[in-house]
Amino acid sequence: LPTDFQQALPILEMIETAGFEAYFVGGSVRDHILGLPIHDVDIATSAYPEEIKSIFKHTVDTGIKHGTVTVLMNDNSYEITTFRTESGYQDYRRPDKVTFVRSLEDDLKRRDFTINALAVDRNGNVVDKFDGLTDLDNQIIRAVGVPEERFHEDALRMMRAVRFQSQLDFTIEPETAAAIEDNAPLLEKIAVERIREEFIKMMIGRAWKIGFKEFLNLNLSEYCPEFAGQASKLNNLLSTEDFQMVDDEMAWTAIGFVLEHSEEKLSKFLRDWKVSNKSREACVSTMRILKLIQSNSLEIWDYYKDGLDNVSRAEKLAELFDIKFDREKLDKLIDAIPINSSHDLKISGNDVIKTLNIKPGPEIGFFMNKLEKAVVTQTVTNSYEDLQRYLLK
Ligand code: ATP
Ligand code: MG
Repeated sequence: LPTDFQQALPILEMIETAGFEAYFVGGSVRDHILGLPIHDVDIATSAYPEEIKSIFKHTVDTGIKHGTVTVLMNDNSYEITTFRTESGYQDYRRPDKVTFVRSLEDDLKRRDFTINALAVDRNGNVVDKFDGLTDLDNQIIRAVGVPEERFHEDALRMMRAVRFQSQLDFTIEPETAAAIEDNAPLLEKIAVERIREEFIKMMIGRAWKIGFKEFLNLNLSEYCPEFAGQASKLNNLLSTEDFQMVDDEMAWTAIGFVLEHSEEKLSKFLRDWKVSNKSREACVSTMRILKLIQSNSLEIWDYYKDGLDNVSRAEKLAELFDIKFDREKLDKLIDAIPINSSHDLKISGNDVIKTLNIKPGPEIGFFMNKLEKAVVTQTVTNSYEDLQRYLLK
């Protein structure tokens, strides 16, 4: 067993000593068998939440109603979820009813794909009720049971399919793919936040082009925010050279670029996708820089003001979209920036007050900003005397 599982072994042992079953399940099992790094170790058990709470000293009620208790042990935290079945998915989203059961097989049956329906016991034995190991071997994403029914239960699984395709570079089994295409409109029933999470994981996955292509081919894009009728523009993203998205913001900006969005439109687009304000600002800034690079009018101040992250993301995108720009000039610009922030100025707010003989207040910020710009654009050198002289001019 890998160290992540080794560390969690005492948990399985304690549950078993109390007379219940416990297994490692879900993504950690899949990733371990594939030899990929494991994020979080999830545990499934026949014990009910109250029983888990009586076994462990430090627990958190993460999702008691759904059977999940978090156990804290040796600086790690583990989600322990009671075996359960789900029923009555009337709204294509969430089950009306969660029923705790004592059988592992029933629990595995409710899981989305065969490769995610594997369990490992404390001796390392794999429980494989749906031929998930064969599918892992053949690199196939296949719904557990009847695909049509599974996507009716929870339409988000269709997005999860293309997400795993991108992360793992797998193929979606034909019947599963056909059911996605038939049921793509059900995606409209799903909360934007949940779609976004899978969508962005797909975009930053290592085989994102394969996932994104399938996302378009299976018509999922038509039922996502802001993507209806945009498939041909979105398709342009596939004609770029192969590359890896470095972060969410790079992916969103790339999409905004092929959709030919202005900064304002991009901002609205990201609002509709419910992207966080911080991330949205970074995307808009990246787009602004990208356009300045494209029109060859990027000035040192733009560069400095928008921050290195946004500029380097924009630079990568410029390369990808085959935008001609003078890299040497850009590099020279970067090297020439004399300070990293206003803190590096050789003059302080207090000095400004004294030099100009003014009262403390918002004016100081205005002058500091003016000095910062002057230093960055090399209108004045960053020395106390020169800055003072510049202020008095
Ligand atoms: P990741 O590495 O991204 O965490 P994961 O497979 O662990 O991938 P999670 O979203 O963490 O994905 O879910 C854990 C497990 O719960 C999955 O492996 C799967 O067995 C099950 N699962 C999660 N979401 C669904 C769903 N919508 N429908 C059915 N089963 C699901
Ligand atoms: Mg997980």
